[in-house]
Amino acid sequence: MRENVVIIGGGIAGLEAAGQLASLGYNPILIEKEDHLGGHLADWHCLFPDMIPAKDVVSSLVGKASSINIFTRTEVLRINRLRDSYNVMLSNGVSVMTRAILLATGFRLFDAHKKEEYGYGIYNQVITNSDLEKWFNGNPDSRIDNSHISSAGFVHCVGSRDEKAGNPQCSKVCCITAIKQAIELKKKYPDMMVWCFYMDLRMFGKKYEDFYISAQRDYGIRFIRGRVSEVSENIEGKVVVKAEDTLAGRPVKVTLDLLVLMSGMLCNPQTLNEKATWHFPIDSDGFLKCRNTVADFNLSPQEGIFLAGACTGPKTVPETIAEARSAALSIHNWFNSKE
Ligand SMILES: Cc1cc2nc3c(=O)[nH]c(=O)nc-3n(C[C@H](O)[C@H](O)[C@H](O)COP(=O)(O)OP(=O)(O)OC[C@H]3O[C@@H](n4cnc5c(N)ncnc54)[C@H](O)[C@@H]3O)c2cc1C
Ligand code: SF4
Repeated sequence: MRENVVIIGGGIAGLEAAGQLASLGYNPILIEKEDHLGGHLADWHCLFPDMIPAKDVVSSLVGKASSINIFTRTEVLRINRLRDSYNVMLSNGVSVMTRAILLATGFRLFDAHKKEEYGYGIYNQVITNSDLEKWFNGNPDSRIDNSHISSAGFVHCVGSRDEKAGNPQCSKVCCITAIKQAIELKKKYPDMMVWCFYMDLRMFGKKYEDFYISAQRDYGIRFIRGRVSEVSENIEGKVVVKAEDTLAGRPVKVTLDLLVLMSGMLCNPQTLNEKATWHFPIDSDGFLKCRNTVADFNLSPQEGIFLAGACTGPKTVPETIAEARSAALSIHNWFNSKE
């Protein structure tokens, strides 16, 4: 009989690992709390830096996982350890015995309401990176006036690298996401003026630097190094942003039709810990803890528990998919070592 592997989280990490485990001869059982698969990618439009539609990535992974047992709208209620196995009880009444559990619970976005000074939920023209992706995907947003949008700004590091917001970590993907979203806006509205307000630009990935250069050279996007000090609304209903341009050494004031806050990536697994009455160790950065971050990043300190994707920290799509493949192989090797 094929060995069960319970996978918690049906984002791209969970889906990729499920497909790989099935082809290695296992019986993956995928548990997703939402009514759809794909995790955050189900809301994203095009992926940096090649602008591949996110929906194509999700549908390809869902297709590869088509023969797998998938429970959507399902949560883990309880996990019990029984000698060398786990008994996983689900909210749909199903109970699964497994020797291996893969956590692929991903991340949640920083709640931009908490940075009141940027006016999210106060001024109509202030949205988040996630809101903008949904709008690019064709979901109407009353805050974005299609007929009258000639200027936009992006605020980097919202709820990341911010001790006061409780998250000193860099969210890694939001610099390049801001550039991608700025380019997407410029493609839609070529005459638009677009500013990015940043502290540091973290262009760590393949082709990212080219993307950044292209944003300036081909799309005329302006980059201002400096923290936004004040956001307010003028009588015309536009948003006024004040910042200090630390490179030019002078204050900047711009009036915009749209301000996009680059909300950071935070850990999601805490909700799993609260609900499942089983404690998965959390690291100092708030994400799930792996055995070490060098070679054993797929292994939890707990025997038989494995990890993949953004549940251990901010990740790009290629990094997430690579980790999921690696987790499937780690699980396979671990089962072999038990024989
Ligand atoms: C605004 C934004 C834009 C981005 N754009 C890009 C891009 O263009 N290119 C790129 O490479 N990367 C991009 N990223 C990063 C990308 O979103 C992540 O790499 C990817 O979503 C990680 O996938 P994941 O499966 O690990 O997590 P997630 O996408 O978070 O999926 C986790 C899944 O687990 C489920 N889940 C969580 N807890 C439980 C539970 N207890 N029980 C059951 N199910 C549970 C969730 O509902 C979700 O479906 C972007 C990130 C942001 C914030
Ligand atoms: S990736 Fe960029 S915007 Fe995101 S937290 Fe790091 S420095 Fe800030």
